[in-house]
Amino acid sequence: MPEPTNCPFCNPYEQVLKQNDLAQVVLSDPHKVPGHLLIMPKRHIEQPWDLTHDELTSIFDLIFELEQKLVGKLGDGFDIRQSYRPFRPQSDIKLNHIVFHLLPRSNEDYIFKVAEQYEKELYADLDDMERDAVIDLLK
Ligand SMILES: [Zn+2]
Repeated sequence: MPEPTNCPFCNPYEQVLKQNDLAQVVLSDPHKVPGHLLIMPKRHIEQPWDLTHDELTSIFDLIFELEQKLVGKLGDGFDIRQSYRPFRPQSDIKLNHIVFHLLPRSNEDYIFKVAEQYEKELYADLDDMERDAVIDLLK
């Protein structure tokens, strides 16, 4: 885990495209998804539950502003993703600084062709025991 002073998202080398007091936007390096944007807190945070409500509001203010600006231009809709995967080591692709991904989407786009066409199996119904086990965890 890098010290925050060495974190590229704390000191973005990429151009910051938009920002407000607590959050900022940079362009990802999406070879297959043009317009893939990263929206992140300015403060170095590694666990999503450490975000303050003000930081979450600032992040989602930027996300919704970008969606309104880009809908119909880079895609016909968007996915918002936030991956918390502490089991993966930091690399060029995975940094520990929390980011939200904004992915422009269109019907049967590249993401659909390489991944989502298989979702029927991924999102098949759980059996009763599996469903009850998950519900028990939420109590
Ligand atoms: Zn950072």
